Amino acid sequence: MKAWSLVHEGYDPEQQGLREALCTLGNGYFATRGAAPEAFADDVHYPGTYLAGGYDRAVTEIQGREVENEDLVNLPNWLPLAFRVGEESWLDLDAVEILEYRQELDLAQGLLRRSYRFRDESGRTTRWRERRFVSMADPHLAALSVEIEPEDWEGRIQVRSGLDGRVVNDGVPRYRDLEGQHLDVLEAGRIGPDRIRLRTRTRQSRLEIAQVARTRAYRGAGGERGAGGERRAGGESSGDGGRRASGERSGREEAELDHLTRETEDRLGWIAERLDIEVSVGAPVRIEKVVALHTSRDRASSEAELEARHLADRAESFEVLLGKHREAWRHLWQSFDLELDVEGNAEEADAQGKLRLHTFHLLQVVSPHSVDLDVGVPARGWHGEAYRGHVFWDELFIFPLLSLRMPFLTRALLQYRVRRLPEARRAAREAGFRGAMFPWQSGSNGREESQKLHLNPKSGRWIPDDSHRQRHIGAAIAYNAWHHYEVTGDHDFLYFSGAELILEIARFWASAARYDERLDRYEISGVMGPDEYHTAYPDVDPQEQGGLDNNAYTNVMAAWVLERARDVLDILPEDRCHELCERLEIAEEEVDEWLEIARKLRLCFHGNGILSQFEGYEDLEEFDWKGYRERYGDIQRLDRILEAEGDSPNRYKASKQADVLMLFYLFSADELQHLFELMGYPWDPDFIPRNIEYYLARTSHGSTLSWVTHAWVMARSDRAGSWRLFRDALDSDVDDIQGGTTPEGIHMGAMAGTVDLMHRCYTGLESRGNVLHFNPCLPSDLERVRFQVRYRHQVLDVDVSRSLLTISSRPFAALPITVAYRGHFRDLSPGDRCCFRLLKPEERYRPDEPRDPSSGGPADASSTAGRDRI
Ligand code: BGC
Repeated sequence: MKAWSLVHEGYDPEQQGLREALCTLGNGYFATRGAAPEAFADDVHYPGTYLAGGYDRAVTEIQGREVENEDLVNLPNWLPLAFRVGEESWLDLDAVEILEYRQELDLAQGLLRRSYRFRDESGRTTRWRERRFVSMADPHLAALSVEIEPEDWEGRIQVRSGLDGRVVNDGVPRYRDLEGQHLDVLEAGRIGPDRIRLRTRTRQSRLEIAQVARTRAYRGAGGERGAGGERRAGGESSGDGGRRASGERSGREEAELDHLTRETEDRLGWIAERLDIEVSVGAPVRIEKVVALHTSRDRASSEAELEARHLADRAESFEVLLGKHREAWRHLWQSFDLELDVEGNAEEADAQGKLRLHTFHLLQVVSPHSVDLDVGVPARGWHGEAYRGHVFWDELFIFPLLSLRMPFLTRALLQYRVRRLPEARRAAREAGFRGAMFPWQSGSNGREESQKLHLNPKSGRWIPDDSHRQRHIGAAIAYNAWHHYEVTGDHDFLYFSGAELILEIARFWASAARYDERLDRYEISGVMGPDEYHTAYPDVDPQEQGGLDNNAYTNVMAAWVLERARDVLDILPEDRCHELCERLEIAEEEVDEWLEIARKLRLCFHGNGILSQFEGYEDLEEFDWKGYRERYGDIQRLDRILEAEGDSPNRYKASKQADVLMLFYLFSADELQHLFELMGYPWDPDFIPRNIEYYLARTSHGSTLSWVTHAWVMARSDRAGSWRLFRDALDSDVDDIQGGTTPEGIHMGAMAGTVDLMHRCYTGLESRGNVLHFNPCLPSDLERVRFQVRYRHQVLDVDVSRSLLTISSRPFAALPITVAYRGHFRDLSPGDRCCFRLLKPEERYRPDEPRDPSSGGPADASSTAGRDRI
């Protein structure tokens, strides 16, 4: 990992799936895995192209049951490009001797370079230099440029450039018994001297996809090589966020090869053209493929194929399109880059690169092009088929970063939930509740998409899947809506949609809570918390009596939502409040009841002030962590191991991921203390560290989200431990720590979560009330971090070092804001700058302060806080 690029040296078929996922290129509208254009899907390669929100349903019969799944559809592959000498066989990477191989994902420019030399079975040596991008400037365009250079031979080659509609969903081995055929090919053919087209339609959702590929050939030293790209490719890429890159010129000594003989291959969903080209020693030919992709769901569109044709007609050359694409990335990086001071520290330099890689993938999944698409953030990106492109609670780990950089993205993503309110209401009604019950996994129309059965690859058994019991998803949606409002002050959002979302979710919690007269407490039963290992009580049949009672995370979140619902009604102008209450039939007494329920929701405790993950947790057996680690090594997926042994994690005090500790991730100590007091439970300062220690020792981190949460909650009390877990989260995809999951799709929550750790957690950045609080506590290896924040219409440059916090607001017409460091408040107008001298870590933190303890901290008497005009 370099500061601005991910480099893979050497060809390794074993690593191909991982590299394909990590080198996926996308623009928020569609994404294409970093598969080789000369390869087709097999045991090594898996080309995949996915449209944001491009779902389709299919039914499979498993064990006598009809199971319907909604998949993110693998769209026709636009990459195919290969050559052969004369009539010999087509280039196959796995069948030649590879002499050199290098692949580089350039994060600054959003460009994938692949370059290799090989010797074929006739002893000829050839060089292949490839660049490709999925345009961030025009979301419907992608382009590929390949130079083929014979080093010691000459003759006639055939270049084949195709569109492949024969693809199926086959990227996840566990799903292979399920129906994966989603596309019908409607039409394919040649549509001009250098153009082919392919039109397909998904079977159930009837989404039409049109692709037009334009292929041209050039002779001479073009592209990056002529521009000195070869030299650069050996070292860092532009290294400056692409700032210099837009000035790059290509050595345009090349000439287009016209009047080429072109043949068409057209068979069963495969359309390609073959170009005959004479090549000679040391004289490269460059093939340029520009692809336009439109679908029947596009905005500002007449008909998908018509639009794709027009676009392919108008599209400029690869180099010009690349220039525009680079510029779009440069603009995104201006808002999103986070710079660490990495001088002389290899670990930080590595962290810097990985944080950029994570930001890069986030922006490929969600970009300004996503705004009108009616999509949420899929847990595994648009990078592969794991979890079928579904949207979970992972947005909790993703939205804060977006809200503080490009809040309009969060607003658009929240609308995805708002539009699915009617479906969530219907689900609540059918389950006997009121309000809105959102699905644990959401896809096209907001119905529950969690699978009914899942395969344990360790035992080969299909197991009923109970994960839909994670009703806490609704609280996450309300939390996201509220925090978006709090960070942005976006009253319109609250007024027109956010309030309704929060009120309907609150109403669901109120109806899910049952009053127990004996205890004088409300209880929520039959649910699962975030920890997916616990689906039911031991020794009960989950199908008869699934779920758990009084999951602490769920109940605290429910109390928080119920209290926020009251705030929402207080904030709305009176007439809007009346309108909403009238339409939703909310009576004054109902709102009073919500508060009453919030006050009396039940929490269970055991031992020495440990908040029980759920009622009865203390009766579970302790798990033999040491023994299992010795036996199995990697026990992240303990659930699969135990099931294969005929056992179940339901019996043990063993969690897949943070559950109780999620509370310390989402709330500051002050907020939690308030919630505990509201709910009538005692609070003591040791509560947080005690619970962290207890649950950390009982967690397998079977979800990548778990590292993020733990790194966060330990940031103040155990800085070294937090940094270690942060590093684990940083490595989770690059090193595929879970052993085989990343090739099926990146982990979007963990990727965004790590950037957010640096952004909010280690800087103590928190938007509360109308104040932007800071309370930095940098990990001991980190000297300085700089980034930009957008807060209440002001753009702030934040610079945090060990001793100084500087906040500079860019000149703009906006109202003053208030920023604070540990109880010191400053008003900041656009164009102003303020500095706070920081206390040393040992001077400032109490052990019960996992996040921002800004109130009540010791006064910083030596503060030089002041305000300069610049
Ligand atoms: C985790 C969930 C997460 C899902 C999607 C699961 O493994 O347990 O918390 O939402 O993956 O990322």
